[in-house]
Amino acid sequence: MDSTLISRADAVLLNTYRRQPVVFVRGEGSCLFDDAGRRYLDFVAGVAVNALGVNHPAWVRAISAQAAELHHTSNLYYTTPMVELAERLVTLSGMDRVFFCNSGAEANEAALKIARKWGKVMKGPRCTRIISLSRGFHGRTLGALSATANPHYCEPFTPLVPDIEQISFHDLATLDRRMDEECCALIMEPIQGEGGVYPTDPRCLQGIRSLCDERRVLWIADEVQTGVGRTGRWFDVHHAGVLPDLMPLAKGLGGGFPIGACLARGEAATVLQPGDHGSTFAGNLLAARAALTVLEIIERDHLLEQVSRVGELIRSRLQQEPLLTNVRGRGLMIGTDCARGDARNVVTRAREQGLLVNATSDQTIRLVPPLILTEAEALEGIEILRGALAGPAS
Ligand SMILES: *Cc1c(COP(=O)(O)O)cnc(C)c1O
Repeated sequence: MDSTLISRADAVLLNTYRRQPVVFVRGEGSCLFDDAGRRYLDFVAGVAVNALGVNHPAWVRAISAQAAELHHTSNLYYTTPMVELAERLVTLSGMDRVFFCNSGAEANEAALKIARKWGKVMKGPRCTRIISLSRGFHGRTLGALSATANPHYCEPFTPLVPDIEQISFHDLATLDRRMDEECCALIMEPIQGEGGVYPTDPRCLQGIRSLCDERRVLWIADEVQTGVGRTGRWFDVHHAGVLPDLMPLAKGLGGGFPIGACLARGEAATVLQPGDHGSTFAGNLLAARAALTVLEIIERDHLLEQVSRVGELIRSRLQQEPLLTNVRGRGLMIGTDCARGDARNVVTRAREQGLLVNATSDQTIRLVPPLILTEAEALEGIEILRGALAGPAS
C-alpha cells in the first residue's frame, strides 16, 4: 500500500471521510486490485453504484465511442441519448416523465421542489409540509439533509429547510394524522439503505399508496439505492405493484458514471415550467450513454433474475451463520447484524482476507455487490466473510 499517497491525501483533501487504508488501481468484473496487485472481491460496488462491475466491455465501448463523438452540450439544446434514456426509463418504470441531474441528493432536491410547488398550486399556499421517516437517508445537500433523520448528520448545519417533519418508521397512525391539508408529500426509501438496510413490507407500500391517494399527498419513493435492478425488479416498488408520484434515482443508474434522475407521474409530472429548475451537466451524452448501456445489459443478460437468485443464495447462507442475526433485504441489497456488535472489525478483517463489505453501524453489515455477481463469486465471498466473522471480537 502506498502510504505516501495516503499522507498526500490527508494534506490536501477536506477531512470528510474515514477512508480505509487501501489504494485501488484497477478492476475486472466483480473484483478490484490494489497497488500491490492484491485481488478483492467487491461486495460494496462503489456503494451500490457499479451495477455492471468494473471494466464491463459494453459500458467501456459505449462511453468511449460517445466521448469521441460529442460529450456535452448543456440543456440549451436537444441530444439523442438523453431522449432515448428518458424513453427507456418511462417504459421500464411506468412513470410519465424524467428530470435528469447528477447525484442522489440532487434527484431528491428535484422531488422536494416539485412537491412544494405542487402543494402550493394544487392545495393552497399553506400546503408546504413534507413528512420523512426516522432512520431515513436522502443525501447531504441542505434540502435532502433536512429530510434525513440522523441528528449526527444534521445538527452542525441547522437551521435546516423548514417544515420537514420526521415521523417514526412504519407508524401509519401518525402518518394518517399528519397527512392533512398542509402536507404536500411523504418522502421515504422502500428499503432504507444508509440507515441499515430496513425493507418496507410490500403491503405497507400499498398502504402508503392508498393513504397518499386518500389524503392527496405526493409519495416520493427514494429509489436512489434500490432502483435500477438492485432488488431483483427494475424498481423496488414494483415488488408491491404500486407506483409513487416521484421516484428519485441515481446510484446504479450510470454504472459508475455520475447521473441522477427524478421520475415523475401524473400531476407531479406537470408542475415544473421552464426556469423552475435545472442543472448544467444533467443528462449529458456520456452520462446518458452510460445509463442506456446499464439498462441494455441488465435486460440482455437477464440480470434481474440473476440478482433475485444470487441474493436468495447469499441470504440463505448468511442465515446459517451463528455470528449473524436478522438477515434481511431484497435481491442484492442485503443487511445483517453482527451478534458481537463488531461490524467494523469484521469489515477490516474481511478486507485483509480479500473481500470488501460495508458497515452502516457497529452492528450492521451491508452487502451491495455488482448486479453481475455470479453464484460462484457469492459463495467465495461468503467463505471469506465466514473467516472474518470468526476472528477475535475486538
Ligand atoms: C446514497 C443515497 C442518496 C444520496 O445520493 P448521493 O449521490 O450521494 O447524493 C440519497 N438517497 C438514498 C436512498 C441513498 O442511498
